[in-house]
Amino acid sequence: MNLSKSKYCNGVQCKKMLWLEKYKPEEKGELSNEAVLDNGNDVHEVARKLLGEDINIEFNENLNEMIKDTKKALEKENVIVTEASFNYEHNFCSVDILKKTGNSYEIYEVKSSTHLKDVFINDASYQYYVLTNLGLNVKKCYVVILNSNYIRKGELDLDKLFVKNDITDIAISKLDEVKSNIDAINKYMEQTEEPDDDIDNKCFKPYECPFFKYCTRQLPKQNVFDLRRIFNKEKIKLYKQGLYTYQDLLKEDINEKVKEQIEFELFAKEDKIDKKSIEMFLNTLTYPLYFLDFETFQMPIPQYDDVKPYMQIPFQYSLHYIENNKLHHKEFLAKSGIDPRRSLAESLVNDIPFDVCTLAYNMSFEKNVIKNLSELYPDLKNHLMNIHDNIKDLMIPFKDRKYYTKDMSGSYSIKYVLPALFPNDESLNYQNLELIHNGSEAMNTYAKLEEYSKEEQEHIRERLLKYCELDTFAMVKIYEKLKEVIK
Ligand code: SF4
Repeated sequence: MNLSKSKYCNGVQCKKMLWLEKYKPEEKGELSNEAVLDNGNDVHEVARKLLGEDINIEFNENLNEMIKDTKKALEKENVIVTEASFNYEHNFCSVDILKKTGNSYEIYEVKSSTHLKDVFINDASYQYYVLTNLGLNVKKCYVVILNSNYIRKGELDLDKLFVKNDITDIAISKLDEVKSNIDAINKYMEQTEEPDDDIDNKCFKPYECPFFKYCTRQLPKQNVFDLRRIFNKEKIKLYKQGLYTYQDLLKEDINEKVKEQIEFELFAKEDKIDKKSIEMFLNTLTYPLYFLDFETFQMPIPQYDDVKPYMQIPFQYSLHYIENNKLHHKEFLAKSGIDPRRSLAESLVNDIPFDVCTLAYNMSFEKNVIKNLSELYPDLKNHLMNIHDNIKDLMIPFKDRKYYTKDMSGSYSIKYVLPALFPNDESLNYQNLELIHNGSEAMNTYAKLEEYSKEEQEHIRERLLKYCELDTFAMVKIYEKLKEVIK
């Protein structure tokens, strides 16, 4: 089989993944977010300049052309080649950055993550195997990741932004392992009948497998993998013991919250409403009462000063508030193409007075955003931290299961709680919105806003505002529901 870096790593995770990829690609689901992020292209583009001026090998469907171009580029004595491409016995790889000094080489595998993971080491070790078997004198092998502590000040400092992890010794020690993995993959791929490998912990590590739905298609509808508040490792353990139906699991000694989910769904139990606890929670809130929700984006490569890799950058918020029994709404959406934080922070302190109670759903997110802003703008710190300190979490009654229905399916995320509480309310259905239906779409669309025409931008901004408004309106409705059920 023709292998590549990613195929090799997938094959190390599970050979059946490669088999299904080849013979049943239509069964493939979505790639996990983590897998997409780790291999993001933006970081490669910036990392290209890490070692100096490079010769880039352009992508070509015909891999032999890339190999030919690489050979030509490496005719020079001292050179840095990006996407340098090689093939050894059907094992192809493009090295992110290859440094040639005299007749020795250094491999740099670039990842968009801030953590060094085993899968990155496997990836780089595979490249080390290919290049050394082709007779190249590889002196060093690095995995380059992002430095999570780097804070941009002025021009990007690539030496501080990236961390080079020297994994040469590991790559050398793994040479035999890589060979035996490749042999095992090739042998496995000779099978024409679908192999019957069972699911296991490998299905989630290092990334959730996109064929998981396919491989669990025989399980009954309500099974151990539908449960929440239980680790995947634990689910696999139960599955391996043959305990995967809700009936089986009910007899087991599993945590109370999981058992509750099973009982509610299996026996279609009545809603659980602990009126006293909900009332106690509501009594901690005071009027005027604010409801706040931020939209943020993250960048692996900081585009502005005072930003770290993957820092949450707020660009929008929606604010409903109840004052004198009336519901009001305020909102903010920053101009695109500039650092949105200062204008957002100024608007926020303008819109939320001192000492008022503010509700957020999953408040740690909102609090973290506000804390970061307060550290950035000392002149606004007092007010921002006052907002921060007065935030309460609307999620608490649901997280603590003081209010629970079977339709929440074990979750306390607002995406489950809202439709469970208001199953037929079309005004709260995100699918009825145009263009933007969730936080990821908001983030991705805002990040690309500058690429649209002025008219399109206006339209998109309108849709972003509508989306975010629904987030806080939904919180108001949930709050009102809590008040209603304790009557
Ligand atoms: S779901 Fe699990 S068993 Fe199936 S292909 Fe993926 S990793 Fe392999």
